[in-house]
Amino acid sequence: MQLTDQTIHQLHQRLSSGEISSVALTEAYLQRIEQTDPEVNAYITICRDAALADAAAADKRIAAGDIDLLTGIPLALKDIFNSEGLRTTCGSKILDNFVSPYDATTVARLKARGAVILGKLNMDEFAMGSSNENSAAGPVRNPWDGERVPGGSSGGSAAAVAARQAVATLGTDTGGSIRQPAAHCGVVGLKPTYGRVSRYGVIAYASSLDQVGPLARDVEDCATLLGAVAGYDPADSTSVDRPVPDYLATLKDGVNGKRIGLPREYFIDGLDADVKCAVERAIETYRTLGAEIVDVSLPHTDYAVACYYLIATAEASSNLARYDGVRFGVRRDEGEGLIGMYQQTRAAGFGEEVKRRIMLGTYALSSGYYDAYYLKAQKVRTLIRQDFLDAFENVDLLLTPVAPTPAFKIGEKVDDPLQMYLSDIFTIPVNLAGTCGLSLPCGLSADGLPIGLQLIGKPFAEDELLQAAWAFENATDFSQLPQLAADR
Ligand code: GLN
Repeated sequence: MQLTDQTIHQLHQRLSSGEISSVALTEAYLQRIEQTDPEVNAYITICRDAALADAAAADKRIAAGDIDLLTGIPLALKDIFNSEGLRTTCGSKILDNFVSPYDATTVARLKARGAVILGKLNMDEFAMGSSNENSAAGPVRNPWDGERVPGGSSGGSAAAVAARQAVATLGTDTGGSIRQPAAHCGVVGLKPTYGRVSRYGVIAYASSLDQVGPLARDVEDCATLLGAVAGYDPADSTSVDRPVPDYLATLKDGVNGKRIGLPREYFIDGLDADVKCAVERAIETYRTLGAEIVDVSLPHTDYAVACYYLIATAEASSNLARYDGVRFGVRRDEGEGLIGMYQQTRAAGFGEEVKRRIMLGTYALSSGYYDAYYLKAQKVRTLIRQDFLDAFENVDLLLTPVAPTPAFKIGEKVDDPLQMYLSDIFTIPVNLAGTCGLSLPCGLSADGLPIGLQLIGKPFAEDELLQAAWAFENATDFSQLPQLAADR
């Protein structure tokens, strides 16, 4: 087995026994990135020197007997995380030349544990998208099939794990951006409960929905990474002050006696036949593992996509008002006066989808329309959250598909925003409800593309999600890795 094929827990064994060094491991990863990234385009910035310096420091720590599960492990970050001294573009031309002056709390927590940061990963501009086609750095190609999208917006974060260009990565999920790309790339991705992980230093898209989470090769790695980044942060007033459970301690407890709900609104016409079949087989697996399967209803599901695209765009239009070219980022001076400078800067710096969202959000917030759109959407959001809380009175977890289809072709939906928005139909409600969701591989389509299974948990019940995911992963054999052209 290649070094770059291994998980955090496998590599940790080898690092702690002294069999390998973090420098050698990091070099193997840098070489792998060099070989495969022309094909995948998962990285926006590769931090060779900084990564090797991190690795040398980790080796010193290990030699001194100071080793944590993440010490010396090469990870990578979606380019939305501020990381001191590294370029942070958020997939946008407007931040093309921006170098972060500080670390996001999550990044600081990984560094404190001795993790190695390999670089910054490609993404849809400002995390707006479901295909990674909205990136100033160009599209990411799905490692399973280079003509297909990896999903988005954390497309680079998912593709890098699948292509073995990082052991695991961090992404963000506002409406599905961890879970949908994880599903399309055949890796495990977890969106924690809103407030579980600090957002400090993470570039904001829609602040009431954004949440940081891990993407990894298996459930155990996902649990390890979540444990490392979760927890209260005084610098983020929306992070919740509540103890972080030891996710690894309960990981293998199984699902015997658990009640798993199938929301009938998620098993609809239009669901791809292969996806449906894989999810139905997964349900059978859970039955075999001792879970009780029950029907549930989330009656306001139909309104979720519309509600999300009002709230998310409203918040985005406000968050993105700060990119004015004055203190950082790209600046265009051709316009007349200050307003002219703003106009030129923003016209040149933002891509089409971001402009569309700013206009939609500004419209929804404008006087005369605020009550009809934004306020109404907030009320609907409360109903959607209540649907989940009601369902959880009766079940421990919910099980659904992650996306209606496997990865689609590059270019297939890019000119049809509505079709693109509908690809998040099963993930968006979880963000609106503010609870946690996980995507894990549950099969391959007839075309050999990975299919994802979504598990949704009660607020702050990430431990139960991970347990159920681990039980499935260990009862099945779907955690495969794709062969890239560079591997042939
Ligand atoms: N695809 C959704 C959007 O475009 C979700 C993105 C995300 O979760 N960041 O808004």
